[in-house]
Amino acid sequence: MNTLGDVPRYHAEARPDAVAFSFEGRETTFAQLDRHTNQVANALLAAGLSTGDRIAYVGKNSDHYFELLLGAAKAGVVTTPIGWRLAAPEIAYIVGDSEAKLVFVGRELIGHVDAVAAELTHRPVVIAMEAEGAGDYQTFEGWRDAASDVDPHKPIQISDIAIQLYTSGTTGRPKGAMLTHHNLLGMRREAAKNPLEWNQWGPSDVSLVAMPVAHIGGTGWGLVGLINGAKGVVAREFDPTKVLDFIEKDRISKMFMVPAALQIVVRLPRAREVDYSRLTHILYGAAPIPLDLLRECMEVFGCGFVQQYGMTETTGTVVYLPPEDHDPAGNKRMRAAGLPMPGVELKIIDEAGKSLPPNTVGEVAVRSSANMAGYWKLDEATAKTMDADGWLRTGDAGYLDEDGYLFIHDRVKDMIISGGENIYPAEVESAVYGHPHVAEVAVIGVPDDKWGEAVKAVVAPKPGVTPDADDIIAFARTRIAHFKAPKSVDFIPALPRNASGKILRRELRAPYWEGRERQVN
Ligand code: ATP
Ligand code: MG
Repeated sequence: MNTLGDVPRYHAEARPDAVAFSFEGRETTFAQLDRHTNQVANALLAAGLSTGDRIAYVGKNSDHYFELLLGAAKAGVVTTPIGWRLAAPEIAYIVGDSEAKLVFVGRELIGHVDAVAAELTHRPVVIAMEAEGAGDYQTFEGWRDAASDVDPHKPIQISDIAIQLYTSGTTGRPKGAMLTHHNLLGMRREAAKNPLEWNQWGPSDVSLVAMPVAHIGGTGWGLVGLINGAKGVVAREFDPTKVLDFIEKDRISKMFMVPAALQIVVRLPRAREVDYSRLTHILYGAAPIPLDLLRECMEVFGCGFVQQYGMTETTGTVVYLPPEDHDPAGNKRMRAAGLPMPGVELKIIDEAGKSLPPNTVGEVAVRSSANMAGYWKLDEATAKTMDADGWLRTGDAGYLDEDGYLFIHDRVKDMIISGGENIYPAEVESAVYGHPHVAEVAVIGVPDDKWGEAVKAVVAPKPGVTPDADDIIAFARTRIAHFKAPKSVDFIPALPRNASGKILRRELRAPYWEGRERQVN
């Protein structure tokens, strides 16, 4: 398997009748997936698309999204999935930026087509993913099934772009990370040379794809299962009660979820009644997890836990914390993001790019075969992020310990400098989170005449409690150094998050910084 198109080809030979995807009662075998992706490729070629052309997908999760992605890959066409929760101008920005020639639209978004089109300077062809609400638009199945199912066998290079995946837009406008076939498949060979116990897949494995496909945690995770020949149960969207149903009825063995999603699932009363005996591993990551939440999940789900650290630009996971380092008694390793995946190199650098010794905080840099080819049409940002030796700056602050474990503090830009001390919000959030009245917490730096910046906690309280700011501050001071504990607490009903479940600290900061420039390194 060298290119994405080889994935259905390989499994159609090896296990033609095994189920590749299950979606709302529709099952697709690997043999069918191979034929459908041939049809998609032929339909795109017939529409005049050629290598490097882009198509976009705007919709919730669907098995047909994966058919589109793999079929496009067979034609050399690049797929850009776009988050369905974005507003029309945000969707239009990505459709316009990617120059997508065809846009495939899910039923939930079909009503937005005109609003999106009004913002565009080019006129892409619209295809409705589902018959429901399709109106005059051609449907995906009609479009696909009109094409030949014979493999076009178009020559594809492993350095060709397969996916243009936009970053989550947590720190600014999303950037189009160009991921090649080699990015998506190269690390697998390294993994095969150094098998990790939690990363073994067998014929009975069933993976749950419940995170949005517009992000690496959805598309990347869906592809991992597929590449390994597992059955992928695709959830249209993240619905916490349905996650429990899938685990019970579809016998899910592995799933990836962001901490914000795990928190909702684990707090459901029924979560303590479900049979988790088939669930071998929960992989979690994409944002820092509060330790108390991790302990709660380990107790309720009782399976192996694996932390994943990575980003869109590194095609997802580059660092993992294996189950054996999850010791609820609280060993120090449980706070780590973990060890480099096979084939991944890590280093910690200062602002000038010089390597720092162990246990010294700096910016995390990554080198692996999964580092993106670059950002689409953003040469300056690409040059700032990647150097000629293949190192990619993550924008995250952290350190490596003497055993090579990576500890992630936070994004460099979110670091609070108060009275000359560096304070990382995630650590403070983890401390505050354990307070019994706190449902969610974000920590930000606000302007302070004396200290430069002061630590503020923004708390969403649990329902039915009357939270007290002083009590929360006192609680934090029992868990972390006084200078790191919040100086003030604000209460809001819920934290602003993006579709990747990440707290939008820049939105929370904005009202306090109005008219002032926040200094970041
Ligand atoms: P943008 O780059 O547009 O601001 P983003 O960085 O949130 O958005 P992603 O590529 O989806 O977009 O997320 C990658 C980031 O998520 C990492 O740089 C890191 O800050 C955070 N992250 C990922 N995994 C972990 C983890 N295990 N622990 C803490 N943070 C994590
Ligand atoms: Mg980023």
